[in-house]
Amino acid sequence: MLHQVAHEGLPSRLYITVLKTSNIASGHDMAHNTQQEFSPGGKTTGFVYNPVFLEHTQSTHPENKERLVAILKGLEEFHLEERLVPVPARPAEERELLLVHTPAHLRRVQTISREGGGYFDPDTYANAFSYDAAVRAAGGLIDLTLSVIRGTLHNGFALIRPPGHHALPDRSMGFCIFNNVAVAARAALDRENLSRIAIIDFDVHHGNGTQAVFERDPHVLYVSSHQYPHYPGTGAAAETGSGEGSGATLNMPLPAGCGDDTLIRMYSEIAVPLLRKFQPELILVSAGFDGHWKDPLAQLNFTLKGIDTLVRRLVALANELCGGRIVFTLEGGYNPDVLKLAAVNTFFALLNEDEAHDPLGAPGVPEPDLHDLITRLKELHHLP
Ligand SMILES: [Zn+2]
Repeated sequence: MLHQVAHEGLPSRLYITVLKTSNIASGHDMAHNTQQEFSPGGKTTGFVYNPVFLEHTQSTHPENKERLVAILKGLEEFHLEERLVPVPARPAEERELLLVHTPAHLRRVQTISREGGGYFDPDTYANAFSYDAAVRAAGGLIDLTLSVIRGTLHNGFALIRPPGHHALPDRSMGFCIFNNVAVAARAALDRENLSRIAIIDFDVHHGNGTQAVFERDPHVLYVSSHQYPHYPGTGAAAETGSGEGSGATLNMPLPAGCGDDTLIRMYSEIAVPLLRKFQPELILVSAGFDGHWKDPLAQLNFTLKGIDTLVRRLVALANELCGGRIVFTLEGGYNPDVLKLAAVNTFFALLNEDEAHDPLGAPGVPEPDLHDLITRLKELHHLP
């Protein structure tokens, strides 16, 4: 298996190897079987899914429908779907997408889909279903987010494709068409009169698109931990926001080989203190599970247990800071076994249950010492 080689500051392609996809039965009909009563004010967890998310696919590309099929299979296996509240993935309205994206970008996505598909860049494909999938991904996440802000749901996880965090205002990139999390955050700021939202992005790749949308915005704290240097080349420690948004971007760039100890230490010593200072009214999480040691697109060594520990800390932090208002959205992750169990574990965390699964274990290799990086980040962000 070839791995992508990236050089500092030089965006390279997100993948260069065609992956074999596993043979998992289709989870197509799941959302239709999950009608459930829920009591407003109860501790309810929502999820977003629509079968069109399986239609945006290309079997030779790592970002294909089998990722989501694996997660749906996990929900069935652990009898989770009947315990969750489905939130319909309605298409985002143009005015909502235009809170982040340019009209020319919307037209380009529409046109390329209408013509049957093509490529936005060498990494990022579209087919005839991609526009519908992309607008429903954004619309579903908006509605899940608004339901959590308004208290109809306690928290939630959007199982959506295509992912979003690399998408820039004027173009798709890195498997992402529209920046779902940025659109949801802008819609929440626009409509719900919030003044502080935190976006936490633990995908192994830096969310360059999300950072670009909010780097001058003091109302959104963007926190990212990612492999560095790696695709897309951005996300250095010194990128801390600019203008009025100065200090409202935190990048925790991790060298290849970092594992659970580094991940938890970075969040405990840097991200959590900064989040406590910022006092968010809502936490959105760009949940990419490609930091796992078995992921084929990167070289960090997190385990399912480590990812679960982080997820539970973020849920606890939301309980501490913002009435439990936390919404996860699916970004990357390209190993189906990892995706399935990481998502299942995340739902158990959102349901406030201890159940967690890690049959894959750890790679058992030593982690680099990041003392100097931690010291530097504390200085850059004025943390004790
Ligand atoms: Zn990723």
